[in-house]
Amino acid sequence: MRDQIKIKDLLSGGRLEDDGLLSLLKNEGNLPEIAEAADGINRRVNSGRVTYVVNRNINFTNVCNLNCKFCGYKRTKGAPDAFLLGYDKILEKISDGMKIGIDEICVTGGINPDLKPDYYFGLLKTIKRSFPRLHIHAFSPQEIYELSRMTGKSREAVISALAEAGLNSMPGTAAEILAEKTRKYICPEKIGSSTWAEIIKTAHKTGIKTSATVLFGHLETESDLVHHLSLIRNIQDETRGFTEFITLPFISSKTPLRKKVAVPFQGNVQRVFKFYSILRLYLDNFKNIQVSWPKIGVENAARSLDYGVNDFGGTLMEENITKSAGGGFGEYLPERAIIEIIKSAGKIPVRRNTLYETGIYEETMPAEKVSSL
Ligand code: SF4
Repeated sequence: MRDQIKIKDLLSGGRLEDDGLLSLLKNEGNLPEIAEAADGINRRVNSGRVTYVVNRNINFTNVCNLNCKFCGYKRTKGAPDAFLLGYDKILEKISDGMKIGIDEICVTGGINPDLKPDYYFGLLKTIKRSFPRLHIHAFSPQEIYELSRMTGKSREAVISALAEAGLNSMPGTAAEILAEKTRKYICPEKIGSSTWAEIIKTAHKTGIKTSATVLFGHLETESDLVHHLSLIRNIQDETRGFTEFITLPFISSKTPLRKKVAVPFQGNVQRVFKFYSILRLYLDNFKNIQVSWPKIGVENAARSLDYGVNDFGGTLMEENITKSAGGGFGEYLPERAIIEIIKSAGKIPVRRNTLYETGIYEETMPAEKVSSL
């Protein structure tokens, strides 16, 4: 019979250490006990409140000269469905978003060899000129690396210049799995783990907050996950610059990796729930654990709120990356739908901005809206 791991034993010394994390990840049983412990911590930290953001995604290009095996989004230059958006089109998309009152745009794209640094800086300035109060969450550490290479400037100088041009925060994407052997296999041309970590720490020290992410459910081992999470937790201890942790369950069906991944997570959502719970136990310096509803679907995202998750992500409006990999859970959830989903799960919906500030909404929300929550 499989040994049951006692959560209270693992947490008895205070912090869940890496060997305890490895045991939890390897042990296939005891989900109820892990979930109960995670939910208890989440209730203590977040008091049953579940946050969300009203935002819009903008993918400015799908042309990319890297070849990540988990990606269904990239196109080669000249492909019939390759695109690169001009500033006018991007401003039009933001204007659409303004109709639903977005607070944030999340701007990401492929590593397009035709784009020069001027495109990135000009884009930020153009958006800020038209929408000075909009929070711009843009460009991954991979893009910072490319901009530094193209301009010959240090990464710190690049991030500072982007902030001056209008950048408010960065997605902690391009992390995928921060364990070198698996990383080299699934995204051989991407920056290595140590470069990713160095760019993220530089951003934090420059005053730019980021999210933290993991690509979960592909070829990674439990040891890879320990390596990844340990690196993330150590960075957070040092900088306190991560706003939230986001798990991105791997969607395989339209990606080059699909034949290598024997049991995609879609057939085993309990595994994803267990992972959320373990994150809540291990990432004791993160207040916010976010679910990605386009990856696991709205129903499962609602269930995840009992497994340590306290943030429902955003309205998005447009979602191309998961859809291109074979995801079929939609691209847009209106704010009203998110509020209803959170309430149906027995939690309290709370609107936030990118930096998890909520007060402005609680103070300005009309009385009838508050009473209906
Ligand atoms: S994941 Fe990003 S960097 Fe990798 S191939 Fe796809 S678009 Fe390019």
